[in-house]
Amino acid sequence: MATLPKYVGLDVGGTTMKAAVVDDAGKAFLSVVMDTNTTDGQDVGLETMCETIRRAMAAAKLTLADIAAIGVATPGLGDIRAGVIIDPPNLKPWKDVPVRDHIAKAFGKPTAYQNDANAAAVGEFWVGGGRGTRSMVLFTLGTGVGGGIIVDGRVIEGEHSHGGELGHLRIDLPDRGRLCGCGSRGCLEAYASASAVTRRAREEMAAWRGPTALKAYYTANDDELTAKVIFDLAERGDECARKVVDDTAFYLAMGACSVIATVDPEVIVFGGGMAAADWFRAKIAEYVVRYGLPYPVAKSTTPVRIAFAELGSDAGFIGAAACARMLTRKG
Ligand SMILES: [Zn+2]
Repeated sequence: MATLPKYVGLDVGGTTMKAAVVDDAGKAFLSVVMDTNTTDGQDVGLETMCETIRRAMAAAKLTLADIAAIGVATPGLGDIRAGVIIDPPNLKPWKDVPVRDHIAKAFGKPTAYQNDANAAAVGEFWVGGGRGTRSMVLFTLGTGVGGGIIVDGRVIEGEHSHGGELGHLRIDLPDRGRLCGCGSRGCLEAYASASAVTRRAREEMAAWRGPTALKAYYTANDDELTAKVIFDLAERGDECARKVVDDTAFYLAMGACSVIATVDPEVIVFGGGMAAADWFRAKIAEYVVRYGLPYPVAKSTTPVRIAFAELGSDAGFIGAAACARMLTRKG
C-alpha cells in the first residue's frame, strides 16, 4: 500500500516554536517544541527552526526522504510572497529574515511560508472547524484578535500581506474609538482581545452600582483579572461580568457582519480560550442574525454558520503543513 505524502509544519512563536510531521489526511505525528530565544539573534533563530524541523522528523521516525514539502508560519509583519519576516513585534530584534529560502536551501524541499494567523485559518479550513467548506473566516481571540480568510479554497494574502487582518476591522469611529496597538482607533482588537476584555471589565466595575462577584474577585485577588475569570463569572450569572461578555459578543458580531458583507463565507470560525463557551458563540450568532445582511445570515436556506476552532494551539503547525501540501498540488 502506498503511504500518504507527508509534510513538516513549523509554527514559530515569540517564546517557543512547535513542529510536527503531518500526513496528507491532516493527521499530525508527535509534535516537538523548542525555545525561540530571539535575543540570540536571527541566524541562531533560523538554525533553531531547522533543528525543530529535524526533531519533528525524528519524533515521527521519518527521514527527509519521506517528506514532500515543508511549511513555516511566523508572526507578522512579513512579506508572504517573498517568504521574509520583515519586522515582527513578537520576534524582536529580528528584521528581514529570509525564512522560506533559508529552510528551502537547508532541506532541499519545496517550502511554503505564511503568517501564523493565515496558517491557522488554512489549518482549520483543512481539518478543523471549517473543514468541508469552500469559504471560511477565522477569528482567533487571544492577546490580540487574529484572523484569516479563505475564499474558494485560497487564503487571502492581499497585495501587502495584510489580507485577513481582522483584528483591525473598524467597529467604531476613529475620533472616539478605543486605541489599538496599530496606532489607530476603533479597531475590533481594541474591544475584543483578551486584554481589551479585562480593560473593559475594569471600567465596567468602576461604574457598576450594586454588588458584583467580579468586583469581589478583583479586590480579593490583588487586582488580578483575566478574560477567563470574567467569562466564568458571567457563566455563573454575575451581571457585571455578563455585561462585559455580552458587549464582547456584540463587538465580534460587528466584525463578523463586516466580513459577511465582504466575502460572504460559509462559516465563521472563532478560536481561542474565550470562544470555547457555546453560550458565548450563540450570543455572537444572535447578534449576527440581528445586524448582518438578511439574506446570508438568516433568509438563505443555508445561512452562514458560527463555529468553534477545533485545532487549538496545533492550528499553526497543521496549517503550515497544509500550506506545504497546497504548494505540492499547485499547477
Ligand atoms: Zn488596529
